Amino acid sequence: MSFKGLNLSADMLNSLNKAKYFNPSPIQLRVIPKALKGETLLVQSATGSGKTLCYLVPILESIDPNLKEVQALIIAPTRELASQIFSFSNELLENYEKPVKVRLIKAGEELANSISGLKDGTQILIATPGRLHDVIVKNDILSLRSVKTVVFDEADMLLKEGYFELIDPVIDVIDHKVQYLVFSATLENNCLSVLSKYVGTNIEITNEDILTSDNVTHYLIDIKYIDKKEAVRQFIDIKNPYLLMVFASKKETANEIYAYLKENKYKVGLLTGDLSARERKNIMKMLINEQIYILVCSDMASRGLDIKDVSDVLSVDLPSNIEFYYHRAGRTGRFDKLGNSYVFYNSDSTKKPLELISHGTIFKYLVLKDNKLLEGKGIEKTHPTKKKKDEELDNKIKRTTSMLKGKNKKVKPGYKKKIREEVKDIKRKHRRELIKKEIRKQRVERYKREARGDE
Ligand code: AMP
Repeated sequence: MSFKGLNLSADMLNSLNKAKYFNPSPIQLRVIPKALKGETLLVQSATGSGKTLCYLVPILESIDPNLKEVQALIIAPTRELASQIFSFSNELLENYEKPVKVRLIKAGEELANSISGLKDGTQILIATPGRLHDVIVKNDILSLRSVKTVVFDEADMLLKEGYFELIDPVIDVIDHKVQYLVFSATLENNCLSVLSKYVGTNIEITNEDILTSDNVTHYLIDIKYIDKKEAVRQFIDIKNPYLLMVFASKKETANEIYAYLKENKYKVGLLTGDLSARERKNIMKMLINEQIYILVCSDMASRGLDIKDVSDVLSVDLPSNIEFYYHRAGRTGRFDKLGNSYVFYNSDSTKKPLELISHGTIFKYLVLKDNKLLEGKGIEKTHPTKKKKDEELDNKIKRTTSMLKGKNKKVKPGYKKKIREEVKDIKRKHRRELIKKEIRKQRVERYKREARGDE
């Protein structure tokens, strides 16, 4: 389906076309029609899903060109993201005939710069929270009386950084009903409860099925307990990727891998939360100029950055919030491009890979051995508690049989039968114990339910 089916103005269609956006992404298909109707929406989506157009298109369409006041407010947690949104809107406006004035105000610039010319007909305001608070609440420079739409971009990050303390007084200034368009990579309960203040509690979450991007092939690589950084090095030599993002859950691991690759003269950059805005910008520049083609990242540090043409993603471990795996994998295979997402594992740590499999992710299996990537066998689904219980039973049997045998090698007649009976007895007792345990567990659960008043 093309953008033509979305009931957009000829002006917008032409502008999208000229900017080479021909077909909407799945999330755009779901969000744009509802947002055009003025609905408040809570959207679960990550950078790379096409979320920016989800709100820029309806906002631009709804702007009244004759009203020279702020009609839409877009709030983003970082300067980089705010700047990206600003460039994106300029890209669209380049061929848009309706005149729309967009302004960016962000942390780090002089307040005087943010203020200058702001009142001269700004219609869309893109801002980071602190600077927005300075302008609207502290200095009362700009009126928000004509705002129709408020966007929270990367709402989970806004929340994590405590930015709602700054945003809330700004929203309080608006004394009429507005449309909220809220985008968040994750929507955990604490996030939902804060957001409900704006979007209400009775709101459906719009999301694209992030679990299934057909363009990405997923691989599990058994690294056979090789040191992870060495495994990364071997992987790079074997695959020779065009542009690789290497993810580690801990920044220490990311640092180590980065240092090791750098030491071995690979063209590599590092993206962790410790970097300053300038350093991050520098990394992006190096990527664009092809001075580096490997980027070692931590999950949060890479959020909100739009890195194009990532051919391969490698997770050296899996994140504790398994959903982030899909955001990692989503860095590649965007739109019509194909991509690969690789995950390292060892045969004694299959819990998280199995979790991904139970979410419906289909993996191909590889083994890293002797500097080669070979076809793998797949992972066994052994239930850890079942394994433990079976071990317990085996130990009991072993103990009893060795006791019956005694130290004496000569055995009494009928000894085999006696052992058979003993083993049978042990198994029966073991089974009974398990059943009793289960009954106790169920009883405790029932008490808890009763105490909560569920029954
Ligand atoms: P976003 O998730 O908004 O950060 O967008 C990620 C990337 O996808 C950006 O580089 C956009 O230029 C690109 N993009 C967004 N929507 C489309 C589309 N409909 N067709 C092609 N590329 C798109």
